[in-house]
Amino acid sequence: MQGCPYCHSNQFIKDGRYFRKNDSRYVQRFQCKECFKKFSVATTELECGHKKRRINYQVFKLYCSGVSFNRMAWLLGVHRLTIKRKILYLAKKCNRDHKKLIQNRVFSEIQIDDLITTEHTKLKPLSVTNIYASDQRLILKSQVSQIPAFGLLAKISRAKYGYRESHLRKGLDKAFSEVEPYIKKDALFKSDMHQLYPEYIFKYFPKAELQTFKSEKGCVSGQGELKKQKYDPIFSINQFNAKLRADLNRLFRRTWCTTKDPRMLQCHLDIYRHFYNLRSLKII
Ligand SMILES: [Zn+2]
Repeated sequence: MQGCPYCHSNQFIKDGRYFRKNDSRYVQRFQCKECFKKFSVATTELECGHKKRRINYQVFKLYCSGVSFNRMAWLLGVHRLTIKRKILYLAKKCNRDHKKLIQNRVFSEIQIDDLITTEHTKLKPLSVTNIYASDQRLILKSQVSQIPAFGLLAKISRAKYGYRESHLRKGLDKAFSEVEPYIKKDALFKSDMHQLYPEYIFKYFPKAELQTFKSEKGCVSGQGELKKQKYDPIFSINQFNAKLRADLNRLFRRTWCTTKDPRMLQCHLDIYRHFYNLRSLKII
């Protein structure tokens, strides 16, 4: 126990215990000797107040295995809203645990690529910037940014939904500032011919080395992530993107499930990042 959660005093005494029904455990209670408030070991946990904590780990695994909200609610026998609350909680937990997981690591080879998905309709695209450490096979950041429709849909999109701002620069700034402390200053970056990457890579890592490669055609139509050529220099990141397309329900190529709220997509990617890293390190 760290101390009183209200006044941060270390002067507290044991004050009985209670039986927590939803995971069949006894929880120790304490009373602070300075502010006389009562608390327990559960007060400061992220799970505080959860009534269905038995399903937390199941939700974590199913959500990273292509199962939708509603199907998960049916499989686990809980309400759809419970699942939504679990997702918001898991995103917080995974972000916290991810920081712990990579805090003592330094990465020297990075691959960057963007994955395009949509917000409800193809007229409102979103870009997901993935920063992948290929030397240790860990994903460092997936950042969702709103982008305007491009190509043939641009005109239709503007007519129907009006001008759509691009938040890609803001997103890149956020992603790079988050991963900066964990990457070597002279690291090797590999990416495709994206226009904005060099600007941001050299802004955050002036001494870095950058190698860019021309994007090739996909091996099967509709699977742009897996390339036709024999040797793909940015295979790791393309493989990761292909895994995202296979494991996250909302990123499947043909699916009923779409993203309605970009913030939920960000939560989903944060949860998947931790799941992928734990699998990669053979922890789960
Ligand atoms: Zn106190």
